[in-house]
Amino acid sequence: ALYHAKKRLRGGAVLFNTDHEHQINLEARIESVLKQADLEKELSVVFQPIVDIRDGSTIGFEALARWDSPTLGKVSPASFIPIAERAGMIGSLTRPLFRKALDAAISWDAPLRLSFNLSAHDLNAADGVLAIIGIIETSGFDPKRLDLEITETAFTHDFEQVTQSVETLRRLGCGISLDDFGTGYSSLTRLHALPLTKFKIDRSFVTNLHQSPASYKIVKSLLTLSADMGLDCVIEGVETEEELEALKALGGTSVQGYLFSPPLPEEQAMEFAARTSRE
Ligand code: C2E
Ligand code: CA
Ligand code: CA
Ligand code: CA
Repeated sequence: ALYHAKKRLRGGAVLFNTDHEHQINLEARIESVLKQADLEKELSVVFQPIVDIRDGSTIGFEALARWDSPTLGKVSPASFIPIAERAGMIGSLTRPLFRKALDAAISWDAPLRLSFNLSAHDLNAADGVLAIIGIIETSGFDPKRLDLEITETAFTHDFEQVTQSVETLRRLGCGISLDDFGTGYSSLTRLHALPLTKFKIDRSFVTNLHQSPASYKIVKSLLTLSADMGLDCVIEGVETEEELEALKALGGTSVQGYLFSPPLPEEQAMEFAARTSRE
């Protein structure tokens, strides 16, 4: 009786159309469109510069996925990547994205580095890592100029298998970056057990760094930790001069963020690199 009363009161469908339900419907829609998408055609990569703040030179680029769907328009990777992971189809996105990123990078004149994001699901099975190695070898790109970015949470999936995959990629010569560093709960013991070459400090610690004593202390200790472990450290999401000055004072050297450049289509990325080359 209550149900009918409410239903009459609010007028049918509105009753259960909560925000949560709306979110679920949206995700289901994205998933079904993704499943039928021509991924080779609709996916592309853009490149965000990683800059050495000591001399302003470009060290390399992080490849970031873009999806332009004929039905949905442009969809952010922050939404379609997790959906593809949950749907068990991330591998079918990783493969074309990685090929496209390497196809671009192989033609760069300067020996710039390429960073590429891998998801846990790309690494928690032996055939996933074989597919990745196959793509690197086919491309002809030097694995020593490649940084594969993995988040801490990737290792919570299947620690043994993911660690093994990462070790295989490391032996091939690839750099291994721990992405979104500081946001997970990795113990120091665990971090030491991984074959890492780089940390990427998460943007959340950089926003208003100059005004936040807590963030300042966190960034300071993450930089100290990376130095103690002999690892490079890239600081993400730098948007203002004030943040940059605070990072310089803390001894940060590699930075990625809108202050320098947003992610760019390949051609513009190359123009950026040429403008900021060491000579
Ligand atoms: P991420 O790996 O942490 O990448 C950094 C994100 O921060 C990118 O968002 C980048 O555009 C954004 N960003 C960079 N500098 C700034 C800044 O100064 N301010 C702000 N507000 N944002 C900044 P994007 O391209 O939307 O990617 C979102 C996430 O999607 C990535 O976070 C990554 O987790 C995932 N992703 C993107 N491409 C791929 C991919 O090819 N494969 C996988 N597995 N994940 C990907
Ligand atoms: Ca990343
Ligand atoms: Ca990140
Ligand atoms: Ca992130």
